[in-house]
Amino acid sequence: MTKKASTLKHEDLVDEIVTRYPPKVARKRRKHMVPVNPGTEQKIEANARSVPGIITQRGCCYAGCKGVVLGPIVDMVHIVHGPIGCSFYAWGTRRNQGKAREGGQNFLEYCFSTDMQPDNIIFGGEKKLRKAIEEAYEIFNPKAMSLHATCPAGLIGDDVVGVGQEMSEKLGIPILGFACEGYKGVSQSAGHHLANNGLFEEVVGLDDDVETDKFSINMLGEYNIGGDSWEIERIFEKCGIKVISTFSGNGAFEDMSKSHNAKLNIVQCHRSINYMAEMMEDKFGIPWLKVNVIGLKATSKSLRKIGEYFEDAELSARIEEVIAEEEAAAEKEIAPIRERLQGKTAMLFTGGSRAHHYQFLFKDLGMKTVVAGEEFAHRDDYEGRKVIPDIKIDADSRNITELKVEPDPERYHPPKSAEEIASLKKEGMLSNYDGMLPDMTDNTILVDDITHLEQEMMIASYKPDIVCSGIKDKYIFEKMGIPSKQLHN
Ligand code: SF4
Repeated sequence: MTKKASTLKHEDLVDEIVTRYPPKVARKRRKHMVPVNPGTEQKIEANARSVPGIITQRGCCYAGCKGVVLGPIVDMVHIVHGPIGCSFYAWGTRRNQGKAREGGQNFLEYCFSTDMQPDNIIFGGEKKLRKAIEEAYEIFNPKAMSLHATCPAGLIGDDVVGVGQEMSEKLGIPILGFACEGYKGVSQSAGHHLANNGLFEEVVGLDDDVETDKFSINMLGEYNIGGDSWEIERIFEKCGIKVISTFSGNGAFEDMSKSHNAKLNIVQCHRSINYMAEMMEDKFGIPWLKVNVIGLKATSKSLRKIGEYFEDAELSARIEEVIAEEEAAAEKEIAPIRERLQGKTAMLFTGGSRAHHYQFLFKDLGMKTVVAGEEFAHRDDYEGRKVIPDIKIDADSRNITELKVEPDPERYHPPKSAEEIASLKKEGMLSNYDGMLPDMTDNTILVDDITHLEQEMMIASYKPDIVCSGIKDKYIFEKMGIPSKQLHN
């Protein structure tokens, strides 16, 4: 079967879509849509404010900090300081899976909120926050907590960071305050950055008492949505690679505090965690490597890259054995499905890099991704890290502190020589991400911060066989009679 094309050429479709907007909005949105022409240098606008009223799928800064990065850490109590609505969304649609470590704790099933009421908004809510911390401490006795500010808490000036420090001294456990009010930044992305800064400053490096393994790694930007980290860890373990800590799916405070002892950081979701990868390299000398562990071929490729990095013949041989075994088992299951899926098309609208990673999985199945986009990506997530020096830093990004990190005088131990690392960086193996755009094919569209109108018009033109997106927009596709699969949950 031939692959389905859009009823309109991709460029004409994008031009047609923007005619529906007022001229100023049309000019702005046109820069966020790229009809892909492989082999040419193309540019996209990203990480800019959404047009008010346009129906964006984005989340807020609090969603990025609590919902994405901190929330999946199982052995911390995460208290949301705000009205119950902010907490309910982050808990009621709980998507991360987690298990307690042996003899440890797991608070993922709980929703901790100060449940701010009108009188707290008028007279201040810090008193209520202190009380909530004490209550949670008495009932659950956690080894650490995090506090998350929401818009109302920030607007009245409640100081969650200050309250966290004060209560930390009083109770004798780390209590990390995050001033991640929803309105900061332009999307969830600001919250990821804040969360990375907090974890890096307060947790990473706390525990030096660990035996380091020859092939020890941290898995960054993997959130155990649906239990994927468990499957990935199973494969790593089979290869003889030890995962010290995952940031942050099924993550644990105690694992993260030891994570500075790893020999390599692998990065799955580049956007949400690249700050941590860079800061850990600056302070402890741990290099980072971009991987994709979604899809059979992509996972095998990533495993081989890890083997190549460690330059150990025994490890590489074991990796090849595991790949052969796992691919053969998976192929048995996939083969009959692949036959039915030949030539089918998909659209992918996700928060971050899943829109990139899933294209490989669909390719394994004989399908083509015709439109893809992310909610909170920056230009480097689309065009590759080579564009970072050209990205204009605007007021919204300046809102989030860029930490200045120096090498740790005692614990900066790069696992390879400076020359070797520099050469691997030059080759593009380390500290590199080429972005999603180079992997998209002809007559496809890359779209940033997509709107409902754009989704509807692209679906009408491409008639995809499946749309994979998030909780906010999936109902539109279901009403249109198109199979939809949430990729956030
Ligand atoms: S935007 Fe503000 S009010 Fe809405 S969920 Fe985020 S923090 Fe809460």
